[in-house]
Amino acid sequence: MKSRYFESNTEEERILIFQEYFDRDLESFFSSTIACCDECHDDFNARWPGTVSHDIELQRGYTTVDEFLRTSRIQDTFYPEEIERFSKFLRCPNCDAVLDGEFWIYEHPFSVREFSTALNEIAALASRAPFLLLTHPFAHEVLDVIVGLGKVALPQHVTGSQFRARRANGLPNPALADFGAPPAHAVSEGRYNHAGHPMIYLAAAERTAFVEIAAPGVSFHVAEMIWNGPMKILDLQLKPEAETRAEELIQCLARSSLCSAPRAGEGWVKREYVFTRFVADCALHAGFDAISYSSTKDRDGSNLVVLAPTDDIATVASLVGIRTLP
Ligand SMILES: [Zn+2]
Repeated sequence: MKSRYFESNTEEERILIFQEYFDRDLESFFSSTIACCDECHDDFNARWPGTVSHDIELQRGYTTVDEFLRTSRIQDTFYPEEIERFSKFLRCPNCDAVLDGEFWIYEHPFSVREFSTALNEIAALASRAPFLLLTHPFAHEVLDVIVGLGKVALPQHVTGSQFRARRANGLPNPALADFGAPPAHAVSEGRYNHAGHPMIYLAAAERTAFVEIAAPGVSFHVAEMIWNGPMKILDLQLKPEAETRAEELIQCLARSSLCSAPRAGEGWVKREYVFTRFVADCALHAGFDAISYSSTKDRDGSNLVVLAPTDDIATVASLVGIRTLP
């Protein structure tokens, strides 16, 4: 076949060259990308739930091979016949399946490839021997980064109302005292707390507090409170940018299934929370009082967990009001 630049190359070489140009254009399309196809999209969702559920920009990452090629710089290098022919051999940069039809381009503010092996190893270790997480260099780096952040973090006031929901059943006359930390003996493993370690989980909006624990046919009281005391807050919220290594690591945590796994059913052992509980231990060790993080249930929602709350909530919060939903 006639070629603009690659007459002297074999057919096989031309297929590889075409793929290289395609990958180059993917990379330049966004600053730090990973593309996934029909085959691997579900797997990507499972690995990066934070990214998929929050980043509205990413929802626009859907495209088709034809559309992408039509707008990419590949036009400058190949004749239309070459594009037509070699596009049939393109492979998904994520799973290597043949790329036909549609794919998604996701942008992360860090190199996914750099972190992916570590994340897999951490997930395996968290499931096999959770007390040994610190034997992994990635977990050690997480501790170092959080300790570093703890040294420079200043106590700050929580802005705006905070909301906390409780089942309405058995609580006919709810008061502020009912929205403090639960008694230790009643506390099972949670996203950030070990069993027997009470923490207070708050949301920045009533809706978020409700959807975080909503169950069909169950009523909840949702208390609106103002948090009075200043706290040192570890910020694990999703951000579109990450410049320093510490910011990259925090964004990797915030977006990966290690920290943003949706709650998976009832039961005593919650393996999906092992790494978040490790992060909470790091935060406590570094002198933080709370962790702020993005909701996994409410796209725009944000949560705050108070790591070592006092027994008497009235000393740190004042009640605005209580509503019963739904
Ligand atoms: Zn794929």
